Amino acid sequence: MTPAPDVVSLIHVKRDNTRPLTGAEIAWLFAAYADGAVADEQMAALLMAIFFNGLDGGELRAWTAEMIASGETLDLSHLSRPSVDKHSTGGVGDKVSLILAPLVASCGAAVPQLSGRGLGHTGGTLDKLESIPGWRASLSNDELTRALGEVGVVIAAAGAGLAPADRRLYALRDVTGTVESIPLIASSIMSKKIAEGTRALVLDVKTGSGAFMRDREQAERLGRTMVALGEERGVRTTALVTRMDTPLGRAVGNALEVEEAVAALTGEGPDDLMEVTFALAGHMLRLAGIAADPREAITSGRAFATYKRMIAAQGGDPDAPLPKAGHVRHALTAPEAGWITGLDALAVGVAAWRLGAGRARKEDDVSHTAGIRCLAKPGDRVERGQPILELHTDDPARFAAAADALDSPGTLRIGSLPPPAAPMVLSVISADVADQVGA
Ligand code: URA
Repeated sequence: MTPAPDVVSLIHVKRDNTRPLTGAEIAWLFAAYADGAVADEQMAALLMAIFFNGLDGGELRAWTAEMIASGETLDLSHLSRPSVDKHSTGGVGDKVSLILAPLVASCGAAVPQLSGRGLGHTGGTLDKLESIPGWRASLSNDELTRALGEVGVVIAAAGAGLAPADRRLYALRDVTGTVESIPLIASSIMSKKIAEGTRALVLDVKTGSGAFMRDREQAERLGRTMVALGEERGVRTTALVTRMDTPLGRAVGNALEVEEAVAALTGEGPDDLMEVTFALAGHMLRLAGIAADPREAITSGRAFATYKRMIAAQGGDPDAPLPKAGHVRHALTAPEAGWITGLDALAVGVAAWRLGAGRARKEDDVSHTAGIRCLAKPGDRVERGQPILELHTDDPARFAAAADALDSPGTLRIGSLPPPAAPMVLSVISADVADQVGA
């Protein structure tokens, strides 16, 4: 009989990179962690060893399978529409889900978007929607499947029963400097999406200063790893690597982003936001096997009508005025006349966060009204002294810290010529070009 593994030996194996862990060892590890026989500090040591030495294909497959098996799996097979979801790795001003989910549903798909909350300088979709009076993020599984059947789309909090091992591991990674590991990120995201029961998935992997993965090659590697994991579990998966070096659209912050999403749904969206939204929508519809034109869903008013039904189905009033901040102030003036060639996403994201739009710890509340409007963006012509940003907050004491986040020569770049046009979508990764699972 093979002796039961002990956790210290498994830590040595990963630390010294002597051999891959077996599926049985990984299964034992998850079971022992769940019942308390493996302590947080031991799991943290193992995560750090994985951070340095990665997981090979077999290990990653087993790791992800254990995360999924730690909780329930939703069954959406009874839906009459094909299911397809989208996940973004997060960026500044990224309100794409608010537009995309109802848009794709209005074309005939079922979009089961179960989301988390924002942490740090990137906002969370649920925090944005919660700025709508009455809207509620928590639904039971029954409510969720009913909304999906009736409206075709639901954006809700992922229930505690979905991949609970990820919840615990993510909290541990967050405080041990082990978040930025491709196999750990890939298994964390994909375990939740696979457990959610969607048949198809489009991933928006952001790259640039405001993204998790600043480096494009790393973002592509993460995309390939997630596509391979999804496809192996029968979820048709495509990843788009998209630019996140400047805020997406012109609004950053919860209610401000909802307002911009509504404008986009009524045909008034900024070009960069619509380019990403239509690209993702095209791939979602392709994977769902639906021949529809996403642009027509906007011009016909169908996407907006679905948005209103989606908000109302979760108790929200889509026609109610959104809350507004008590204090608004201009910041960041153009030091000279010219063309804006750069507006740093990270600086704007951190400033919005300091105004109250984001949270530092997951227990914190966010302000629905705080945020930033970009009065000018890369590609716009400005005059000397022209304000570039409009800061919104309920607490004027926060202005100084937000201004500090913007106070670097790299935040705003101005040139004598307009910047060259650059596509928002840098690469598309689908099953035929995805790597074997393994990172
Ligand atoms: N988002 C997740 O859900 N998990 C990660 O590890 C990173 C981002």
